[in-house]
Amino acid sequence: MTEHDATGRNAAGRNADDPEVRRAELAANLALVEERIASACAASGRAREEVTLIVVTKTYPASDVRLLHELGVRNVAENRDQDAAPKAAECADLDLKWHFVGQLQTNKVRSVVGYADVVQSIDRMKLVTALSAAAVRAGRELGCLIQVALDADAGARGERGGVAPDGIGELAAAIDGASGLRLDGLMTVAPLAGEYAGRQRDAFERLMEFSSGLRVGHPAANMVSAGMSSDLEEAVAAGATHVRVGTAVLGVRPRLG
Ligand SMILES: *Cc1c(COP(=O)(O)O)cnc(C)c1O
Repeated sequence: MTEHDATGRNAAGRNADDPEVRRAELAANLALVEERIASACAASGRAREEVTLIVVTKTYPASDVRLLHELGVRNVAENRDQDAAPKAAECADLDLKWHFVGQLQTNKVRSVVGYADVVQSIDRMKLVTALSAAAVRAGRELGCLIQVALDADAGARGERGGVAPDGIGELAAAIDGASGLRLDGLMTVAPLAGEYAGRQRDAFERLMEFSSGLRVGHPAANMVSAGMSSDLEEAVAAGATHVRVGTAVLGVRPRLG
């Protein structure tokens, strides 16, 4: 983070809204996150290329997405269609892969399919049907991750979305058989409550077990999306292939979002 004096200028005499200042800030944050991922890979004997960084740009402007692209980021994620759709449109000239990671209502599916390359938050059959219809209509193939709720009792959905583990098989079969959809793997958000609260490493290892089970019948579905700013090390140690990092790259989000 850059330090500012009372006039809102940093030591170099530039204003905080100056794109060069923001660029330097994002570059520094990205370097720190890159270092954390590299260390976590080294600590668990994994090659750095096994882990892809997805930067979660929610609540931040398209100008930040542009700067991140200049700095080499190629995967970004958003969680609200209202914010994501215009941002993706503003950045349509960039070779970016857009991941949708939020709870998704079926009435937003058509819009999301217009820009998303991967939807990571699939947690119910209705969504599979709707996404398939929209993908076919748009002539696109959409990557799909099943969001697993590790805090859900059998049959119930977690408070932040996700299907209970016993529902993974049914959703996987549905996605696999749906036109326009490609089953890529699993995603989770470390639970705040329940038996895995405060036990991120155990939660992510549980997700890896579900991933191994899934790959028996769907060998290509080898993507495991887990870990955020506060727990990416635990996710990499467990075997995640994708980490989703917001705050550590862009800064603490303003409330709401
Ligand atoms: C916001 C968000 C993230 C990033 O969280 P940070 O703590 O800011 O790194 C990751 N995954 C999902 C699903 C999110 O909504």
